[in-house]
Amino acid sequence: MSHSATIVVKDVTYERAEGYDGPVSEAEGVMPVGPANGFEQPRFGNSSTFARLPRIDEVNGEASIVIMGVPFDSGVSYRPGARFGPSAIRQGSKLLRPYHPTLDVEPFNVVQVADVGDVIVNPFNIVETLDSVERVAGDHLSRQRRIIALGGDHTIALPLLRAVARRHGPIALVHFDSHLDTWDTYFGAPYTHGTPFRRAFEEGLLAVDSSIHVGAHGPLYARSDLEEDQGFGFTLIGADRFTDIGTAAIGAEIRKRVGDRPVYVSVDIDVLDPAYAPGPGTPEAGGISSRQLLLVIRALRGVNLVGGDVVEVAPAYDHAEITAIAAAHVVYELLALLVTSSH
Ligand code: MN
Ligand code: MN
Repeated sequence: MSHSATIVVKDVTYERAEGYDGPVSEAEGVMPVGPANGFEQPRFGNSSTFARLPRIDEVNGEASIVIMGVPFDSGVSYRPGARFGPSAIRQGSKLLRPYHPTLDVEPFNVVQVADVGDVIVNPFNIVETLDSVERVAGDHLSRQRRIIALGGDHTIALPLLRAVARRHGPIALVHFDSHLDTWDTYFGAPYTHGTPFRRAFEEGLLAVDSSIHVGAHGPLYARSDLEEDQGFGFTLIGADRFTDIGTAAIGAEIRKRVGDRPVYVSVDIDVLDPAYAPGPGTPEAGGISSRQLLLVIRALRGVNLVGGDVVEVAPAYDHAEITAIAAAHVVYELLALLVTSSH
């Protein structure tokens, strides 16, 4: 893949895809502004945005997909630290390159993708933060922008689902996680990183019998956890199934489950084995590999993806950016899925 053209925005040179003839700043008929040119400035310098993409203000607010950080971890039950997840994922994303060879797509050159920075959260007030995330996400959605959010702990998925469901109607949730996250309360608290999807069900955000957990593993509190979860409209493909059937078959099963409904993909990085992601908030041995996760997401091509998140990266527990790099590649895979989705 070659890049024959560049564009200079505020003294930074960005790459443009050769032969691209679609709209770019969609309003102005210019080409999308991609990542900063890796041959002109080294990837480890300057940029602090996801994949060294432009910030939203550098493309005059014109973007179809936005990367949005939510540095919030006041909903965790075990290891804290996911408030530093957005920074870590952006740092772990610097080596991402523009061309996805398997899908034959350049995710940053199909539409404009931009980094909108982080939502301002209140680390001392969960409910206030949920409202802030919902409001900011709703604002982006009302501007025809689709969102990939960088967590943050898994609590943040609830306000994102609220915003997405308000725009698209009830959502089919594809939930990659070691855990079910449909527990009721922790120490009496209803809004935590272990409860977002029970709240989402109760609030009518999920399409009836259309959601699915993928990659669950590790012990539960009781058999009733699973029985209750089914009542919220979920089926489950546990991590153990990955040793029995391949990622293509699992992707087909997920596609069948969600049908043509609007799909939201929420990825708790603890779906990966701690060997592949040592830095989540609640690690459980026996998870899937980063390759398996990327392949399953890739196998979802064709679903009506309307948004997603990657959460629970706590860099203080990470080693050599293993978790952050895995998360960055998951975001890249979601971007590729978004730009190849039916819209
Ligand atoms: Mn989890
Ligand atoms: Mn989770």
